Amino acid sequence: MYGAGMNWDLSDLSIAERRAAILGRIADAAKWANRDAADISFVAVSKQQPDDHIRAALAAGHCVFGENRVQEAQSRWGETFKDKRADLELRLIGPLQTNKALDAVKLFDVIETLDRMKLAGAIVKAAEKTGTLPELFVQVNIGGEDQKSGILPDELPAFLKGLKREYDIEPAGLMCIPPFGEAPSPHFWGLTELAARHGLEKLSMGMSADYETAIKMGATHVRIGSAFLGAR
Ligand SMILES: *Cc1c(COP(=O)(O)O)cnc(C)c1O
Repeated sequence: MYGAGMNWDLSDLSIAERRAAILGRIADAAKWANRDAADISFVAVSKQQPDDHIRAALAAGHCVFGENRVQEAQSRWGETFKDKRADLELRLIGPLQTNKALDAVKLFDVIETLDRMKLAGAIVKAAEKTGTLPELFVQVNIGGEDQKSGILPDELPAFLKGLKREYDIEPAGLMCIPPFGEAPSPHFWGLTELAARHGLEKLSMGMSADYETAIKMGATHVRIGSAFLGAR
């Protein structure tokens, strides 16, 4: 329920206990929506977290992580926890500059923030060098906010056509960050509808405060930072 306050606050628990609690909530929300919990991926947002929190998450068996800066992610997953990398799925959930595209393509399995043609070009060119194209999600500016990155809902059809025509790529899904301070549900519904209209199966939406709502509305990937790994 939106506005229910701190009902997602699990800070008294250990990281392993929080993980179990969050997985339980994910399962409950999936059940409510008549969905299979196995179709929902819990992405741990590890940005700005100290190494011992990451270590605890890894020890608890967590293996899907989201990062919003390429450089920070390189230092964490390419250096500190390099020995764990092979067992993990890493997802870029923050803005990507074209001059970092090669680094991002080298490090990430999934880039969730494709939001312009020029970036698509840089990612494709980088993938030609590395030999692998990460899975791509298009970030949608679902609330039509001035300052926010993402493709506007009305411009999505043309953007998808352009990706196909220019680069022969089809994204796996859509990602959004609803406007801060607004009820997220209408925006989650909006993203679900857009994805359905374009035959896209994956939906990255929902964060610590609203992931259960997002799952009830169709999220396949929820990005949970503070509720799992602690306040930043
Ligand atoms: C930081 C971040 C999150 C996680 O936010 P929490 O509220 O800590 O769960 C999710 N998505 C994106 C894009 C982020 O930058």
